[in-house]
Amino acid sequence: MKILALNCGSSSAKYQLYDWQKKQVLCKGIVEKVVVDHGKGAFIKHEVPDRPVYKQDYPCPSHKDALKLIFDTLVDPKLGVLQSIQEISAIGHRVVHGGSKFARSVSITSEVLAKLKENIALAPLHNPANIEGILAAQELMPNLPQIGVFDTAFHQTMPPHAYLYAGPYEWYEKYEVRRYGFHGTSHLYVSKRAAVLLNKPYAECNIITMHIGNGVSHTAIKNGISVDTSMGLTPLEGAIMGTRSGDLDPAIIPFICQRENKTPAEVENLLNKSGGLKGITGKYTDRRDIERAAKEGDARCQLAIEMEAYRLKKYIGAYMAVLGRVDALVFTAGAGENSPLLREKACEDLEFLGIRLDKQVNSTARGKETLISTPDSRVKVFVIPTNEELVFIEDVVAILENRYDMHTRFTYSFQSKDYKP
Ligand code: AMP
Repeated sequence: MKILALNCGSSSAKYQLYDWQKKQVLCKGIVEKVVVDHGKGAFIKHEVPDRPVYKQDYPCPSHKDALKLIFDTLVDPKLGVLQSIQEISAIGHRVVHGGSKFARSVSITSEVLAKLKENIALAPLHNPANIEGILAAQELMPNLPQIGVFDTAFHQTMPPHAYLYAGPYEWYEKYEVRRYGFHGTSHLYVSKRAAVLLNKPYAECNIITMHIGNGVSHTAIKNGISVDTSMGLTPLEGAIMGTRSGDLDPAIIPFICQRENKTPAEVENLLNKSGGLKGITGKYTDRRDIERAAKEGDARCQLAIEMEAYRLKKYIGAYMAVLGRVDALVFTAGAGENSPLLREKACEDLEFLGIRLDKQVNSTARGKETLISTPDSRVKVFVIPTNEELVFIEDVVAILENRYDMHTRFTYSFQSKDYKP
């Protein structure tokens, strides 16, 4: 059984083709600069294990063009990995915002599509592209099962006292204004792997997961259930991110609107695209650039590192308080996996909470599963590379085989000691 995982963003389409029997990635890639400027600058980057990376310009004015290009590449005699497109058993689509309507992955029917369209208001930046991708895939492959996998679903277990905002209650009743949380497939994957490394049943584990990539979110997982997460109604809340501000006083928005003669939507756009590390440093979103410039004496880059680490530490402390007992603290995603500096600063002086980092091990831990705490650390601290696509694949197979269960999700094959990440 071969499963295609698809992630259509506003200007890109990312894919991975997986052979379920062999537990092998057959190929992966991305079509970038889709739609923008009528797709004139679009190109595909296609990677097959043990072959050179293939990169080619190809105009893609729509997501349908991008998907057609992907399907053609998959069966191309030179570049492809399939004899025929019919070898694909199903497609798993990433959908960013499932709102309160989707607490699990689902087969995409016309009713599901209608509900997804209702959710556009909750995620105007993300859901339209996800829907475009689904419609294009349905048109190009009408008989293929299409499954939606939601970023928000994992967090639907949060209790009301964690997901409600203290605005007028009517905002929740009328408009479903509440915390939803994102990066759910990543938090699920790394927490399940942490349970394996802890050698403890997932349903008995209390874990804090820190997804620190360009987008950043943290989750408190109690007995295998998400009980709180840092992103909110939208991915703007919480940690300091590449270009997003994270938490700030909401009164800042009208304050800036008034002084700079801007609309709330314009300020929101600035907070999404020109805030965070980019806003603080004035130039960089990538921690590699920031860490290098900080070493060379750039004061704003030094400040950005201090601010980001301080915010991480605040969330660790808050979620320690939420959980009471914590078995593991997990760092994942681009910076979580690859920045010893950020991990060390985030964990600094947290010995009183039972967090003791092994600085030596931490300083060389990059991109692979590693225990980075000392043997006497009450909380085990791990670096665990995330793999959201595998959650997509496993969800798709579980749905096709009629054995999807929220509580055993992502446990069929990868939550085992034999699985090699
Ligand atoms: P992601 O969104 O998970 O792909 O993460 C991308 C981000 O990870 C980049 O913008 C960098 O800030 C960060 N990152 C990747 N590699 C490194 C590294 N070696 N050191 C520090 N940060 C890194």
